[in-house]
Amino acid sequence: MSLDAETDKGVYLFVEGEHQRYSVRLMSGGTFNCTCTLASLKAGKPVICSHVVAAILFETAREK
Ligand SMILES: [Zn+2]
Repeated sequence: MSLDAETDKGVYLFVEGEHQRYSVRLMSGGTFNCTCTLASLKAGKPVICSHVVAAILFETAREK
């Protein structure tokens, strides 16, 4: 897990998956996005994959 970029619109993180690295975006409006298959399969529907969960936990810990 590493922080890629942080803007006033949101943060971009890299999350290490089982076989590859995914790019997770957490937007300031409360929306999120992940490049993994699970997220793309459910495009258009609110889905929280394990990478997004990990990213949120990472961000929560970082802000303390
Ligand atoms: Zn994911």
